[in-house]
Amino acid sequence: MLKKENKTEVIVVGAGPAGVACAITLARAGREVVLIERGLFAGSKNVFGGAIYTQATKEIFPNFETEAPLERRNIEHNYLILGEKDSTNISYRKDDNSSYSVIRGKFDRWAAEEAKKAGVYLVEETVVRDLIKEKGKVVGVRTELEEFYADIVVLADGVNSLLAKQIGLRSEIETKDVALSVKEVLTLDKDIINQRFRVNDEEGSIVEIFGGPMLGMLGLGFMYTNKDSVTIGLGVTLNELAENNYRPFELLEQLKQHPSIAPLIKDAVLKEYSAHLIPEGGYKKVPKLCDDGVLVVGDAAMLVNNLHWEGTNLAMISGKLAAETVIIALEKEDYSKKTLSKYEKKLQNSFVLKDMKTYRELFDVMHSRKKAFLSYYLTKINSFFEMFTSSDGTPKKDNYWKFIKSIFTDRKIYELFKDVWAVIRLLWSILL
Ligand SMILES: Cc1cc2nc3c(=O)[nH]c(=O)nc-3n(C[C@H](O)[C@H](O)[C@H](O)COP(=O)(O)OP(=O)(O)OC[C@H]3O[C@@H](n4cnc5c(N)ncnc54)[C@H](O)[C@@H]3O)c2cc1C
Repeated sequence: MLKKENKTEVIVVGAGPAGVACAITLARAGREVVLIERGLFAGSKNVFGGAIYTQATKEIFPNFETEAPLERRNIEHNYLILGEKDSTNISYRKDDNSSYSVIRGKFDRWAAEEAKKAGVYLVEETVVRDLIKEKGKVVGVRTELEEFYADIVVLADGVNSLLAKQIGLRSEIETKDVALSVKEVLTLDKDIINQRFRVNDEEGSIVEIFGGPMLGMLGLGFMYTNKDSVTIGLGVTLNELAENNYRPFELLEQLKQHPSIAPLIKDAVLKEYSAHLIPEGGYKKVPKLCDDGVLVVGDAAMLVNNLHWEGTNLAMISGKLAAETVIIALEKEDYSKKTLSKYEKKLQNSFVLKDMKTYRELFDVMHSRKKAFLSYYLTKINSFFEMFTSSDGTPKKDNYWKFIKSIFTDRKIYELFKDVWAVIRLLWSILL
């Protein structure tokens, strides 16, 4: 019989946005919660683009806009389609506060400190190796040094979630359902950032990048402006990297050398290089979210909206909803799967699973038509603008017809039907 000395009400594994949101919600409700993080400090191991989103962050930290270590308020979103030497940029600019760029090492650390102030007991530099089960129920965790027991354990241990796999909540991720992302933080003078990205001191710009070195693959690139640095990176699904024998850092080098990107980062100095996985499976790959005595939140539950680069907000809200469910379970002293499954219902009713459901067909469609949508048509957008902006004496009407005819000669009729059908299927699933 195991001795239950280190017993608390709730253990949360992982102090990323999901874990901290869950722990702080529990502590604010007066519950006893231990948050265990393997990093030297919360955020020390965390990698993202990236932007945090105001609505979700405010739900957890109402005063974060004045108190948290933020970099810049994003006022511009650019969607950049790279050809070999050219590019098309769609830019949307609005002076609002819907998202902020942050450095995770600073932001996560601040968030964990807030959790401590709220009463969370934070244990850092400690890896949870195993979950302890008794009579089919999770009753605690085993770290390198000791065992901790709890009424409920929340798994917020990120995309790999070895712990969720251990107890059969998740299966091994298929390589097509996960992207390997590499990124660099490049130091650049604040005034130069302002000038190159057409922003003022506190303002930021986001660049989402299609094509270029990721042409024909399920991959995206990104740039974010920080106070005095720029983040640049890309992510491509693991199966495509393996199939094409690409090394991600080589793709990133190519991206940095593209004529539309290079001037933005000229003379910038490498400060940090990192790599991380991103869940890509979408709604269909969300695993079982709870079992007796245990819940899964954030990336561990594959809750990422890739098309919109949203992950931290889904993580925070899933952490909060899990905490609300745990509070009910603690009040009832019922830690069964049946009671904890209220978490799933809450998620279904929130934007988290609603948004993921909206894009449920996106990955299947993109995987099956990637050569069409992520290569041919992307290239065609650039060649349209090449044609549209040229003034070589050819009558414009001739140019238009040449462009239209090229589509029918490049692609067979049945391929065009398949492309149109894929778009209809996608729009149908998104809108209905
Ligand atoms: C390159 C990149 C760019 C991204 N850009 C954006 C963006 O711009 N905006 C956005 O919203 N999202 C973005 N995301 C997604 C976002 O980072 C994640 O969705 C989010 O961090 C998930 O939060 P989480 O708390 O679930 O997991 P994580 O942030 O991964 O946190 C998990 C924590 O658990 C700890 N841990 C893991 N295992 C153990 C263990 N066994 N014991 C103890 N501790 C453990 C880890 O150290 C870590 O601190 C990006 C992701 C990547 C990789």
